[in-house]
Amino acid sequence: MAILSANLASSAALALILVAASLCLIEAKQFGIGIEIGSRGRPRQREFDYFNLALQWPGTYCQRTRYCCPNNACCRGSNSPAVFTIHGLWPDYNDGSWPACCTKKSFDEKEISTLLDPLEKYWPSLSCGKPSSCHGGKGSFWGHEWEKHGTCSAPVTGDEYNYFLTTLNVYFKYNVTKVLNEAGYVPSNTEKYPLGGIVSAIQNAFHATPKLVCRNGAVEELHLCFYKDFKPRDCAGGSSSSSDMLFSGSSCPNYISLPAYASLGAGNVESEVSWVPEDVDLRWVDRL
Ligand code: AMP
Repeated sequence: MAILSANLASSAALALILVAASLCLIEAKQFGIGIEIGSRGRPRQREFDYFNLALQWPGTYCQRTRYCCPNNACCRGSNSPAVFTIHGLWPDYNDGSWPACCTKKSFDEKEISTLLDPLEKYWPSLSCGKPSSCHGGKGSFWGHEWEKHGTCSAPVTGDEYNYFLTTLNVYFKYNVTKVLNEAGYVPSNTEKYPLGGIVSAIQNAFHATPKLVCRNGAVEELHLCFYKDFKPRDCAGGSSSSSDMLFSGSSCPNYISLPAYASLGAGNVESEVSWVPEDVDLRWVDRL
């Protein structure tokens, strides 16, 4: 009897291990992760192929804002960002997938304390929400970007401090806002610009093709891609440079807008955006 129950217990344990292992593989497949076995027998994600510097256009992103809190740069009134800001530096695979949450290292804001000024300005949170961290729970936007993407960039960018510093340096070196302004693509709530013209301006400046992401015909994100040595490369996979092929899957129409920032929150008496303190659970505010 004792032997039978021991057998049953070990079969149940084996079944649990198999279910857990197959769940891990399903999750890994969603991210397109190449699973390799690390030196201690733990699954490890294959090293990435290239970097994607994902930038956001606050004029479009901030149109989503319904609440304000001190942490949300959309709520800085006339001091809100009027340039492309950083979403993250993402390590990607050539097949369009990416690794995520590569190590157990948690975000520690103290490590980047000397970078806070430029980060607040050029890598601000544009939301009061708290994105998920890799280890359960929710945290800051910077914490999300470091844990999800930064830990997978580590073979090139190193520790947390160097991930943020490298990203800022690449962002300053490849100044998309300046390139577009100089080509006449300035923020406007009335103009529409040819997608091909915006892409050409960036191709001429950086000799590589960016990827644009739109929401309701307005630029929301612009991605610049780099080899691992930070030389620019095309974001689209494959060798074709035909613009028809590059943009056939784009979320942007042929003519797109670059909305000027619409003042929200602080300093705007006509604002319909409500202010909530940082620590309020926004699921409840939603119902107010
Ligand atoms: P990612 O996983 O890097 O694509 O980031 C997506 C998560 O970050 C989602 O939870 C988004 O709502 C959130 N997010 C994206 N951009 C921002 C931003 N500028 N500020 C705060 N949260 C953001």
